[in-house]
Amino acid sequence: MIKTSVLQRLLLAWYRRNRRDLPWRHTTDPYCIWVSEVMLQQTTVRTVQPYYQAFLERFPQLTDLAAAQEENVLAAWSGLGYYHRARNLHRGARHVAERHAGRFPKTLESALAIPGVGLYTASAVLSIAYHVPLPVVDGNVRRVLARLYALRGPHWKKDGPFYNRAEEILDRADPGDWNQALMELGATVCAPRRPACPVCPLHRSCRALALGIAETLPEGRASRAPLDVTIAAALVEQQGRLLLVRRGEGRLMGRFWEIPQTSLESAGLPDLVRELRERHGIEIVPGPLAVRARHAITFRRIRVEAYRARLVHQPAADPERLRWASADEISRLPVSSLTSKIVKGRQDAQRLLDLA
Ligand code: SF4
Repeated sequence: MIKTSVLQRLLLAWYRRNRRDLPWRHTTDPYCIWVSEVMLQQTTVRTVQPYYQAFLERFPQLTDLAAAQEENVLAAWSGLGYYHRARNLHRGARHVAERHAGRFPKTLESALAIPGVGLYTASAVLSIAYHVPLPVVDGNVRRVLARLYALRGPHWKKDGPFYNRAEEILDRADPGDWNQALMELGATVCAPRRPACPVCPLHRSCRALALGIAETLPEGRASRAPLDVTIAAALVEQQGRLLLVRRGEGRLMGRFWEIPQTSLESAGLPDLVRELRERHGIEIVPGPLAVRARHAITFRRIRVEAYRARLVHQPAADPERLRWASADEISRLPVSSLTSKIVKGRQDAQRLLDLA
């Protein structure tokens, strides 16, 4: 087995030569690193970059985020998905502002007491910003370790053993760079399929490569089969503004605004009229199909059909739950990616009509 000191030297040298130039690597501010780590959960580096910069322009200091209205935080997050992350970050910022004078705490115990901060995020922020010797284990690290040491069998299906192994090989002199180096290797070289072993700095010591089993590791949890669903939506327009409804508290993307639509379990248009009447008190008559789009949320493959619709009568005014908004105004509200996609599809269709 490769000596840990040799492993550390090889990987850190590779990282310093090859790391991607990413905006959050230009700072040691724990708040900025925290924002980047939260955004990067379940989202690609490429997608995160513009959001990270725009978010920090809007909330440059932790105290700015703590003082912001939730609606404005969600609006800045719109399009990134997994909105519980934004809510947790916001709650966490308030906690740090109140209990730690706006500065991310320096101990694991205090970091884990921040709402929404788990072991991964706490360890990443503390090791990168403050050089606290804590390992991080994400999907990339897990894959590199599983291959490097050919870790197989039921024991290696749990997170704990990977955490222990990561701790054994942690570079305590430079834990921030070390953690980022392991993650970077997994993200750019030791890919899930067709790892680029010939250019890997660890290829001489990689047991999975020697055994010819690299692509079979890590042994994993079975992924869920995709589910096809159809959503019907109603484009109700008055004086250039679209009718939006607000999602209920506590639901996925709770309190977000959206184009009125059926639920994910819907069979499409037949459910639309009933759903709008029962859930929102809106009576509509559906018209022609205006927008077709596709969308994916976790394992669901969604086909969206948006119909022009007219109101049978004006719904009762309820600014907490109903509002009218132009496309421009919608772009500044907390809305789901699905709603943004429908609005864009409607604008594109309108442009084509104008050209015809
Ligand atoms: Fe991954 Fe290949 Fe490097 Fe092994 S040699 S760690 S499988 S990229």
